[in-house]
Amino acid sequence: MSKNPDTSVLRDGTKVVVSGRDPQRFGGMVNPPVYHVSTVLAETVEQLKSKDHAEESGKQEMTYGRRGTPTSWALENAVAELEGGYRSLAFPSGLSAVTGALLAFLKAGDHLLMTDSVYAPTRRFCNTILKRFGVETTYYDPLIGADIGSLLRPNTSVVFTESPGSHTFEVQDIPAISKVTHEHGAKILMDNTWASPLFFKPFEHGVDVSIQAATKYIVGYSDVMLGTVTATKEAWPELRDCTGDMGQCAGPDDLYLAQRGFRSMAVRLRQHQANALLIAGWLQTRPEVRQVLYPALPGAPGHEIWKRDFLGASGLFAFELQPCTEKAIEAMLDGMRLFGMGYSWGGYESLLIPENVRKIRTAVPWRFEGPLLRIHIGLEDVEDLKDDLKAGLERLRDFRG
Ligand SMILES: *Cc1c(COP(=O)(O)O)cnc(C)c1O
Repeated sequence: MSKNPDTSVLRDGTKVVVSGRDPQRFGGMVNPPVYHVSTVLAETVEQLKSKDHAEESGKQEMTYGRRGTPTSWALENAVAELEGGYRSLAFPSGLSAVTGALLAFLKAGDHLLMTDSVYAPTRRFCNTILKRFGVETTYYDPLIGADIGSLLRPNTSVVFTESPGSHTFEVQDIPAISKVTHEHGAKILMDNTWASPLFFKPFEHGVDVSIQAATKYIVGYSDVMLGTVTATKEAWPELRDCTGDMGQCAGPDDLYLAQRGFRSMAVRLRQHQANALLIAGWLQTRPEVRQVLYPALPGAPGHEIWKRDFLGASGLFAFELQPCTEKAIEAMLDGMRLFGMGYSWGGYESLLIPENVRKIRTAVPWRFEGPLLRIHIGLEDVEDLKDDLKAGLERLRDFRG
């Protein structure tokens, strides 16, 4: 590895391997060491001041554990590079990354436009804490596109997007929304967790600030909570200052594990996608299934925009069952052998849970007649996954009582 490969000319599969690493700096070690640190000592007053000064002028300089260390920069720089933003900051969870990004760009008296398809805890944050601090939230139809203009008010400062929505998988027209948002002088934020930094390039489509629940595919092993927020150069100062003022920082072991997981993300995602495509296509042929909500599947809702804007698809989607009882769903889910039942996703293992967001939606009427199941397709052999699902759907179909 040459001293400083110009990573900007590299393809993504190489970028995930080299970005954010600096073996020369650490005695040749492939991975950065884990810096456990609060206090950082200076030898002279002059050095103390010059380090502060360097940090203030934007250099990655160690002044205090909370302010960043080589362990955090290794991950942050890699994520910023792959997402195509200016700089990135790590947060202790995906949700803290979401709330940290919102707080950086909102103040009392502001209006926030929030997609109705958003991750449920993000919605709750708007309805509780943001409301308490005088920010008004309007939920909008995720498929609104350029018509977002009709909802913008003089005090609208943020339009928040999540595409596809992680519960019902609506694909948003991000280029159209960002164009109108910018004409209005507001910022567009995006929760880009579903696509990971590999399969959607938010900054090429006009996004100002991109959020990753790194807990999911960046970590990849279901054992660490972490988030990142990446900003354009213009949005960076507000993000950096607010995050610093809030005292947000992530723990060194979690950062280390995340940058470790990051290195295999491209190969993992390729397999998640291949398996998910096969399972989604197969589910579509099953009589128990009304509809499959996987944007990468031809004919599925959002497929056209997905094909236009995305570079790939991850392993998370949902499917609508024919109307049936809750007991029948229990018969299916309780007996799964390989699919685990648990929140979160993005690890190497498959998951299957009932999706219950119907009651919290406010902007658009619920579009589904049957119950929804959310599925995460892991890295198992796809034939074993299919066998498990087939047996499950038969339990559902044959359930009496
Ligand atoms: C999981 C998730 C989050 C929150 O991440 P945590 O690390 O669990 O806090 C945010 N957005 C989306 C889309 C998610 O799936």
